[in-house]
Amino acid sequence: MAGPLKMILALSLAGGLLQAGAPEEAAARLKADAALLTAEASRSDHGYTTLASLCDDVGPRLSGSPAYDRAVDWALKAMTDAGLRNVHKEMVMVPRWERRAEAAQVLLPARHELSLLGLGGSVPTPPGGLTADVVVVGSAEELAAMKDEDVKGRIVLFEMPFTGYGPMVRYRFSGPSMAARKGAAAMLLRSIASLSFDTPHTGVTHYDEGVPKIPAACVSVENAQMMRRMWARHERIQVHLEMNCETLPDVPAANVVGELVGSGSPGEVVLVGGHLDSWDVGQGAQDDGVGCILALESAYLIHRAGLKPRRTVRVVFFANEENGNRGGEGYRDQHRAELPGHVAAFETDSGNGLAQGFTLELHAPAGGPEPDKARSLALLRTLGPVLEPLGAGRLDLGHSGVDVEPSVLAGVPGVGVRHDVTHYWEVHHSRADTFDKVNAADLKRNAAILAVAVWGVAELDGRF
Ligand SMILES: [Zn+2]
Repeated sequence: MAGPLKMILALSLAGGLLQAGAPEEAAARLKADAALLTAEASRSDHGYTTLASLCDDVGPRLSGSPAYDRAVDWALKAMTDAGLRNVHKEMVMVPRWERRAEAAQVLLPARHELSLLGLGGSVPTPPGGLTADVVVVGSAEELAAMKDEDVKGRIVLFEMPFTGYGPMVRYRFSGPSMAARKGAAAMLLRSIASLSFDTPHTGVTHYDEGVPKIPAACVSVENAQMMRRMWARHERIQVHLEMNCETLPDVPAANVVGELVGSGSPGEVVLVGGHLDSWDVGQGAQDDGVGCILALESAYLIHRAGLKPRRTVRVVFFANEENGNRGGEGYRDQHRAELPGHVAAFETDSGNGLAQGFTLELHAPAGGPEPDKARSLALLRTLGPVLEPLGAGRLDLGHSGVDVEPSVLAGVPGVGVRHDVTHYWEVHHSRADTFDKVNAADLKRNAAILAVAVWGVAELDGRF
């Protein structure tokens, strides 16, 4: 089927036509606008230099820290400088966890300094640390099968190969309580990473109600494999672990919001966001500095190209994705009355690998009708002709993003950016997540893709 004919058919299937005029005209206009945005992206270094400033001048920015407050000030200026209007912050209360000094050594069978990062939210060790023998397990089932007396008072190390983030993150989140139920004194986890140069990868952990809270940390893949080899040789593994982290009372933080106000339907909002907070190591470049910058660039490029969106494009930098999601929840609560006017909420939070497409997530609002997913997907796919030439034509149903999820579960259509994550897990949540790993050409391409998609949805006649 010829391109234009296919598009007309898709448009009529979707039950929605692009704004005004015949479908051919609308399609031609969208194609011309996409060309403008792509050209603007290719000649601009704005995104790359803005990300460098976030990474270098603000640095790591765990929410609840003074660095996060600096990030908020930085973001207010960056949005204003990019030409956004109504730039402001929206307060939310966030957890405050401080890492402080931490270290661990293998004492037996030979001394080794371990490369370690405490997990976010972990309790500290007793002052002076704890010394205990290590039990190495490869799964929850393996741990459950052990006698309690063989685990009691010991340090449980979960050591399993990287098979993807999903299968392993459950151990980072629930591992401490799994180990504590068997009487363990602490939990160590092989870092969730697809490549390692002795770099540990942190992330948030959690304690189940009614189970003792034990210190929890990740060690580098190399360290975990070494202890696995010692275990396989039936050697006694003794480790000294000291962590001085602390959870303090919640503190105020903020989401940062700016807009291109819609020229025709300003009450209809196309949200595009990432999370401003990062872990407290590295620079939060891929996670999720890039996401914030791409969200900002999508609006900046529309503005620079001289295009005026019919609907409001609202850029949101969310607080506290990493250890609480209070930013996403706060946005939903503070904007509850206008959520029905949200046409879509885009989120990009999986690094700077080339975007291959988008995933649409739909839920019924409380007490509302079930969404017509097939109709909505067909409507999204009307953007295929302008996204396919950019390599981003994979448009399917799927997950959108953690920050927008509270709003999406309340009925706002969520749109996730489907990045190539081949290299994302190499740096994610580690000291290696720094600006130098961000490819400038890929950033330009991703900015063009997101700008075209956001523009397309802002102009669509019809809603998901
Ligand atoms: Zn993230």
